[in-house]
Amino acid sequence: QAKESGKNSICFYTSDINDRLVHYQEVTELLRRALDADNLQLYFQPQIDLQDGEIHSCEALLRCFDGNTQPVSPSVFIPIAEKLGLINRIGDWVIEKACRQLKAWQGTALERVRIDINLSGRQLTNQHLADYILQTLYDHDLSPSQLGVELTENEVIGVEGEQIRQLKRLKQAGVNISIDDFGTGYSSLVYLRHLPVCSLKIDTNFLHHAMENESDMAILEAIITVGHCLDLTVVVEGVETDDQHRLVKELGCDLAQGFLYARPMPAIEMPVFLADKGWAK
Ligand code: C2E
Ligand code: MG
Ligand code: MG
Ligand code: MG
Repeated sequence: QAKESGKNSICFYTSDINDRLVHYQEVTELLRRALDADNLQLYFQPQIDLQDGEIHSCEALLRCFDGNTQPVSPSVFIPIAEKLGLINRIGDWVIEKACRQLKAWQGTALERVRIDINLSGRQLTNQHLADYILQTLYDHDLSPSQLGVELTENEVIGVEGEQIRQLKRLKQAGVNISIDDFGTGYSSLVYLRHLPVCSLKIDTNFLHHAMENESDMAILEAIITVGHCLDLTVVVEGVETDDQHRLVKELGCDLAQGFLYARPMPAIEMPVFLADKGWAK
């Protein structure tokens, strides 16, 4: 029995390594193909204004399709794209695509809906990033305030010099800068004061834990308070239930995002979806 399970676990272990290798190579191939064949797509997830219950902005979330299978998750392919040095190409594609979408929404019910794209920390080290973003907005006849960028807390910890300058330029031009997954890293709130930031997106886990115990509830409240003291817009992610919605509204969060309101969807579904919800302005 013991011998057998030992053997099994060895088998499992080696095949696990192989799986991971195969997986890595597969994703690498997939990304290369996707970039050539236009198999990338942006999905959009509404961010709701908790004051009036209407759509305020939406987050652009990248999907990678291959044939007719389910899309591959960005949590899988983004880290690999970073390792392969493909992240700048992909990132530029996202910027371009988001601007084209904003342009396409002009004159429709979605024209005042800002699009927030996710940036990888790697992209910030490119000293032309801010120029590229502002130029792309300009080329599409868009105002910088129609775009936002999100960077995870872990990626902004320790940014300095040139990277801060990139963020400052974007913020001064009117691009909204959000710290994503806030609370998962180890930055202090004091540190935030020195960053050119406009919004805090509180990580889902805080919300989920706050529903379960009082000390986590106190932490959630404290983050919201400090965020507001620093004049930041406070956004909460991962709202899935009515109870969570009531809680974040009561605590004074400004914006909320989550499956309760809408799942990420292709651009083509947005107008119908908004009209159904009565969100179309
Ligand atoms: P993120 O920026 O924190 O995005 C939020 C993630 O939470 C998305 O996962 C979204 O689908 C998911 N989500 C939204 N509402 C709920 C909810 O109510 N419950 C739960 N359980 N999840 C919810 P997704 O689309 O798989 O993206 C994962 C991560 O991949 C993103 O996390 C972001 O860090 C990264 N990512 C996505 N698109 C891009 C991109 O274009 N560029 C870069 N660099 N990273 C991206
Ligand atoms: Mg994000
Ligand atoms: Mg997040
Ligand atoms: Mg995340």
